[in-house]
Amino acid sequence: MSNRTPIIAGNWKMYKTTSEASAYTAEFLGLVAGVTGVEMVLCPPFTCLAEVRRQTDNSPVRIAAQNMHFAPEGAFTGEVSAPMLKEIGVTDVILGHSERREFFCENDEDLAKKVAVAIEAGIRPILCIGETDAEREAGKTEEKLRGQIEGGLAGIDADMLAGMVIAYEPIWAIGTGKTATPEIAQQAIGFIREALTGRFGAGAAGRVRILYGGSVKPDNISELMAEEDIDGALVGGASLKAGSFAQIVKFS
Ligand code: PEP
Repeated sequence: MSNRTPIIAGNWKMYKTTSEASAYTAEFLGLVAGVTGVEMVLCPPFTCLAEVRRQTDNSPVRIAAQNMHFAPEGAFTGEVSAPMLKEIGVTDVILGHSERREFFCENDEDLAKKVAVAIEAGIRPILCIGETDAEREAGKTEEKLRGQIEGGLAGIDADMLAGMVIAYEPIWAIGTGKTATPEIAQQAIGFIREALTGRFGAGAAGRVRILYGGSVKPDNISELMAEEDIDGALVGGASLKAGSFAQIVKFS
């Protein structure tokens, strides 16, 4: 068991209006009252961030945006910047989710800028990396992960690494119900920590939290969390109901 505090983050994706988010948050806060020893993060759509922040103000729950632009302001229609998120109390931001990479053409070069800007703004990035089914079948998982680490973390140093989180999300496991076995998840996350050690040193790599994401549910969280290098979970579908997400938060 490491001394890294676990993080359980719920990515709502493009689900929930503000009134739905508000009802969820009230229920969730009731279910997790008194929970300690785990960082809880809710990641609602942009439209609900301020309301969910307001509701969670007197709780330990952290609030994440699902994306952010690297520029502080400018002619970037449809985008939101770090200062805008910071002002409403957003603490974290998911960057490089595979859906953003696939459907919105996000690349490692832009992600490196976003990661550095978020850390400088005091917003903790949760950088997502992971391989496709075809890449795994072709034996290219490590090559893909190494490339995403080198690319996405190009702009940061060892001190900054401590201020961020990495999420290993194999694309074949996202929303498919096909969870990686704890062994597969541990192997990939162990490799990520080794690659971070090579780049930033053992101290920084040993402190950074690395989450697993991909069809995490109340009935598989415990076995995943038992693995040495898995420091938490980024949860999609099973975070949409307050009851199942609270069960995941209370995994032990
Ligand atoms: C995700 O979208 O980050 C995710 C892991 O989704 P799911 O839990 O639904 O697989």
